[in-house]
Amino acid sequence: MRLILLGPPGAGKGTQAQRLVSDHQLVQLSTGDMLRAAVSSGTEIGKTAGAIMARGELVPDLLVIALIAEKLADADVAKGFILDGFPRTVGQAEELDELLASRRIPLDTVIELVVDEGILLDRVRKRAAESGQTARADDTPEALEKRLVVYRTQTVPLTDYYRQKGVLHQVDGMAPIEAVSEAIASHLKSIKA
Ligand code: AMP
Repeated sequence: MRLILLGPPGAGKGTQAQRLVSDHQLVQLSTGDMLRAAVSSGTEIGKTAGAIMARGELVPDLLVIALIAEKLADADVAKGFILDGFPRTVGQAEELDELLASRRIPLDTVIELVVDEGILLDRVRKRAAESGQTARADDTPEALEKRLVVYRTQTVPLTDYYRQKGVLHQVDGMAPIEAVSEAIASHLKSIKA
């Protein structure tokens, strides 16, 4: 199974991806995790990406495409993966299509976790107020607001992109975690059948 998980920051993509990893033996490819690892190990990519990420903006397409291309070069990874946080722009989606086509790797589905932006923002504001600090440099209310704007302007067009290709499946991301997992599992079962 090869799939893309779409959804705004805080929608629960990471949680659902981890469940899919254990239930379906898939590899989670999170460009956010890859970039954070590059930032903490101080690589050139990390140096370029760190400040951009802290502001809640997108790092250049070329950079994330290179990271994904490298991972997909592994034949085991190419057999089954979840793309989490990639693609985030139509440009990235087009590059991904080319990459997958050139390596004859078919994409099975694109699952969008549909959530209410206002509720997401309330949640993170509350969390920031309660803890006084956040685990991630880009989890401040300011950066999150920016990330949501970036999602709305640059990533939302991907829903139409994939809808037109007939591979988009929307799931209610506001439902309890268990219910979201079940909705995803039943969709995956239906496309496998
Ligand atoms: P995430 O963990 O997916 O929320 O990503 C955290 C941050 O990493 C984002 O706000 C961006 O700055 C950067 N990032 C992650 N994935 C991408 C991507 N596909 N394109 C551009 N920037 C990305």
